[in-house]
Amino acid sequence: MPAHCGAGTSPYVGRFAPSPTGLLHAGSLAAALASWLDARAHGGRWLVRIEDVDTPRCVAGAADGILAQLAALGLAPDEPPWWQSARSEAYAQALAALQHAGLAYPCGCSRKAVGDGPYPGTCRNGLHGKPARAWRLRVPDGPLRWHDARLGAQEQDVARAVGDFVIRRADGLWAYQLAVVVDDAAQGITHVVRGEDLADNTPRQMLLQRALGLPTPAYRHTPLVLAADGCKLSKQNGAAPLDLTQPQLALAAAGAVLGLPALAAATLPDWLAAAVSAWRDATRARP
Ligand code: GLU
Repeated sequence: MPAHCGAGTSPYVGRFAPSPTGLLHAGSLAAALASWLDARAHGGRWLVRIEDVDTPRCVAGAADGILAQLAALGLAPDEPPWWQSARSEAYAQALAALQHAGLAYPCGCSRKAVGDGPYPGTCRNGLHGKPARAWRLRVPDGPLRWHDARLGAQEQDVARAVGDFVIRRADGLWAYQLAVVVDDAAQGITHVVRGEDLADNTPRQMLLQRALGLPTPAYRHTPLVLAADGCKLSKQNGAAPLDLTQPQLALAAAGAVLGLPALAAATLPDWLAAAVSAWRDATRARP
């Protein structure tokens, strides 16, 4: 039976949300595969969202290239992909709601003035004559606790770790945190499965969900593929383009990153079906 049979029988909705800064590589394929497997293992739907809000980092043609790569790998989304570049109105409404509730404030600090540490709250109580540049979320004090399906119990005090964070950037672009929260809710995402490098973004997203009155999905953060320098594999540190002449080999490598055993399968659909069973066994997912 093809892996997609039974899709849509549970309220599970998952997604893969690539930024089109280049084509998929071994690391982003592992994240894509994990989100697809988890959706299929739960009998759920799987959506793709092109996160092209950070336009200076987007590469022409990368989004279409990613969609073609996913299709070649048998990872077809259940609905036409969403593009964040078409969602500005929804982000503007969310910002307006936060402003109205007194939860967002304008910030006049330059990047240099803020530095790399947590934002010290310089503009929390007014701009002191500076022109407004960015908008920040007013973050409450205290630890936030949540459960990650792979990493277990998590805790972060966002005020201490990050401070009031940017939701609309000084260059006028929408911040990832705001866009991802608005879209996860608008698409009815129940389960977020993504790379572990994003795990520490989760509490910021939970705070935004609370501030906007949106539900919080379940989170699972998956292992990263590391480059020779020990950092997360990326185009910058030499990720090789995926060789999709043999999609099963690329998928098997991604499956190994995710802890799946080697799977004997003659065809791509067979491999995907076997991977769904293996994922279900490994995570005890139930449709
Ligand atoms: N667009 C983000 C990235 O490619 C992923 C966002 C997410 O999965 O929440 O790193």
